[in-house]
Amino acid sequence: KYEGLSKDECKKIRAAHVAPAVHRQTFHKEQPLFVAGKGQYLFDENGVRYLDLMGGICTVSAGHAHDAVNAAITDQMSRVSHTSNIFLHNKIHEYSKAMIDKMPKDSNLSVVYFCNSGSEANDLAMLMARAYTGYLNIVGLRRAYHGASATNIALTAMPLYRHASMPITNVSQTMSPDPYRGLWGGSHCRDGSPCQTLRSCDCAPDVCDGAEMYAQQYRDHLLTLCPGGKGLAGFIGEGMGGMTAAMMQSKGFYKKAYEITKSFGGVNIMDEVQTGFGRLGTHYWGFEYHGVRPDIITAAKSIGNGFPLAMAVTTPEIAEAFANSSLHFNTFGGNAVASAAGLATLKAIDDDGLMENSRIVGNRFLEGFNYLREKYDHVGDCRGKGLMMAMEFVESKSTNNPMPTYKMNAILERTKDLGILLGKGGLYANCFRIQPPMCVSLEDADFTILVMDKVFAEYQEGKIDVEAFNPNPAK
Ligand code: PMP
Repeated sequence: KYEGLSKDECKKIRAAHVAPAVHRQTFHKEQPLFVAGKGQYLFDENGVRYLDLMGGICTVSAGHAHDAVNAAITDQMSRVSHTSNIFLHNKIHEYSKAMIDKMPKDSNLSVVYFCNSGSEANDLAMLMARAYTGYLNIVGLRRAYHGASATNIALTAMPLYRHASMPITNVSQTMSPDPYRGLWGGSHCRDGSPCQTLRSCDCAPDVCDGAEMYAQQYRDHLLTLCPGGKGLAGFIGEGMGGMTAAMMQSKGFYKKAYEITKSFGGVNIMDEVQTGFGRLGTHYWGFEYHGVRPDIITAAKSIGNGFPLAMAVTTPEIAEAFANSSLHFNTFGGNAVASAAGLATLKAIDDDGLMENSRIVGNRFLEGFNYLREKYDHVGDCRGKGLMMAMEFVESKSTNNPMPTYKMNAILERTKDLGILLGKGGLYANCFRIQPPMCVSLEDADFTILVMDKVFAEYQEGKIDVEAFNPNPAK
């Protein structure tokens, strides 16, 4: 029985004292209070069960309150929680070795730095790229999110996260290879067939020019940025757009972009914060799916099943240059408890067969989403791979104009009332994001499609009061 703060008490404290920016972006009108979780489910203070398709924004990888992960954390806490990484302690070494074993053998990614958040990991990656190359310029993709530190906010080009005060130094963005909302994708299939990329971007590069067109944009950007032909420190991309709602980069783009990076003197960084640890179903890492080998990868979220933990992994050459450039230190990064949590999560993902489950259940979800896309005019796109998926809402397929966020919020609220928690995202905040704990089942997928079918029909029939969610109602 739950005996903590009541929902009303939590709401009062939240309104007065909890960082306001996030909850002003009304997620749910009537917020549930979550007090427990197990596997893919969360429970409110009255024991009502919700299917968590958001997984703490793609973070709870092996499932809420996972027995083996919890046991490993408790065991380590009872031995020694923190010794500082200056001393030799056993867990970080056991964990580092296990992590490096997860890198493809032909990758040369063999030195790991643990830290506490994805933002820190990306800061570190940029620092290493600059130390190694001696150049300052970092280039990212226009529709990508990389974190909330000063440097990462500057790198993140999504308008929602920009701040007037961020220092934008030597960071710029090239066009995102977005086959659904970008310039190229739909009309460039050479065989004249309806574009597959509109849905999954699994088109072979030989029938789609998208990747080449976006790569040309990147090359043009660098020609302006590096007048002498060199001067790039690093290029950073995501394994698949996370905050942009499973944006699937045109197939083949990264291969072309990685060569361009090298020709301008830079290193390639892949942000695996959302795509790592088997979530894509067929590959452990997003870069493997794209068939490239980055010089640095960063990861967070799924890495610790909810425990604050992150990392950057790089090559011995870059690590050596970085060590020679200056000292780098992180108090908590990879401390004994964090390492125990990470190691147990790594093991749980393997022991529970979660990569394979992501593939199987992800396919079932996508089948259902495609059925809904064909049935409903307001479902413009559904996409993704494994358990990294999204559904994009439009006013109508005839225009593909993004559905206003408040209307989507009304749909989101109704799905929540029927027991399903979804993420929100996309450049126009008009997408559902589906990134559940990787232990989600086929039955959960079928239940989700049933609920969505019911809610979308209600929306289509005007039975959902969308105006109640309109921040600027007609007078
Ligand atoms: N990179 C990506 C792709 C992310 O999605 C996020 C967080 N949403 C980050 C980096 C930053 O991670 P953190 O919030 O742990 O700093």
